[in-house]
Amino acid sequence: METNYETIVIGGGVVGSGIAYHLSERYKEGVLVLDKKYPMSGTSGSTQAWVWVHNKTPSWYAEFSMYSAELYPYLSKKIGDVEYKRTGGLSPFFNESDREKAEKLAESYRKIGIKIKVLSREEVLEKEPYMNPEVAGATYSSIDGNVNPFRLIDMYMRAAKRNGVRYSTYNKVTEIKKQDGKYSVVSDKGAFECKNLILAGGTWSREIGDMLGVKIPVNQLRGQILVSEPLKPFLNFTISGLRQANNGEVLMGYSMEEAGFNRATTLDVIQETANMAVQYVPGLRKAKIVRAFSGIRAMPEDGFPILGKVPGHENLYVAATHSGVTLSPLIGTLITELIMDGETSIPIDRYSLRRFG
Ligand SMILES: Cc1cc2nc3c(=O)[nH]c(=O)nc-3n(C[C@H](O)[C@H](O)[C@H](O)COP(=O)(O)OP(=O)(O)OC[C@H]3O[C@@H](n4cnc5c(N)ncnc54)[C@H](O)[C@@H]3O)c2cc1C
Repeated sequence: METNYETIVIGGGVVGSGIAYHLSERYKEGVLVLDKKYPMSGTSGSTQAWVWVHNKTPSWYAEFSMYSAELYPYLSKKIGDVEYKRTGGLSPFFNESDREKAEKLAESYRKIGIKIKVLSREEVLEKEPYMNPEVAGATYSSIDGNVNPFRLIDMYMRAAKRNGVRYSTYNKVTEIKKQDGKYSVVSDKGAFECKNLILAGGTWSREIGDMLGVKIPVNQLRGQILVSEPLKPFLNFTISGLRQANNGEVLMGYSMEEAGFNRATTLDVIQETANMAVQYVPGLRKAKIVRAFSGIRAMPEDGFPILGKVPGHENLYVAATHSGVTLSPLIGTLITELIMDGETSIPIDRYSLRRFG
């Protein structure tokens, strides 16, 4: 295998593969993606995969997410069907007292061009007839949706490979050295050299950063998901808590627990998740549950993406974030712009690693 590359991406999840694909669109130099397992083995293979804008706070983060969601229809056209559906998103509330909070959220989003409607009980039930009739209202945004994360990564990889990107899987990076202006990336299958190095190791970002003496403050938060048997299509929207996939399965859950890298599923969270699902959609009480799974969220210490050049290190870039499914088309675009043009079309200074000091 070729050992010299212009750019190496460490991590082939939705973020790393998104970057590799976008880079390969503009750039015919050698790009190599290294993954210690395979591109769906990390968080990207155990996600809800909502493409979600509304409820993101503060509004500048919602705006950033909106730009990415806007790219999805075009992305599907370019790389193939990723089963992206702009279903619209509903975030229900069950106390009338929450309406004021919802109105405030809608008002703050209006200023940046995100249209959020605060729906009455009747409007919610008209849109989503299986929602609990005790619902008091919901915020609604037409830009939210979901995607099939497995197809998304598969399509990113296929398109990237067609453009010449190489993947080396089951190949863990164990050491990174800088010599003669190049990075030497030592892996289980040998050493590779590159000019540009992109760190996209998701929840393992901290340990990859340590190889270069760079602190990437990303923590782990477990999320557990319950999956129903395939049901006839009955949910119209992506609801903040559950969604119905193309094959009819309902995926339920949004837990966030401190459990390190432990991917167990636990009865207490499964029970809370089931309670939430039944409160939202009472008909789910009778659904057969066929499995539960968990994934580990990569959560930057302040909750916001860490993106861009690594301060003080030439040609070194980082992309570590929660909500990587929502953000991957935008992150891929911006990191490509940074490498190719030296600047980005949307300012990303606030996402720099520099903010952690
Ligand atoms: C339960 C749950 C629900 C979620 N729901 C949503 C959602 O609805 N919408 C949304 O946008 N996001 C959601 N997320 C978050 C989203 O899934 C992640 O942000 C995204 O998948 C992260 O992608 P990634 O490529 O950064 O990480 P990963 O997919 O984890 O990829 C990192 C890759 O790096 C590789 N790697 C690590 N260390 C090394 C090394 N030393 N050498 C080589 N390779 C290495 C790993 O093998 C891995 O494949 C959810 C997450 C969870 C857990």
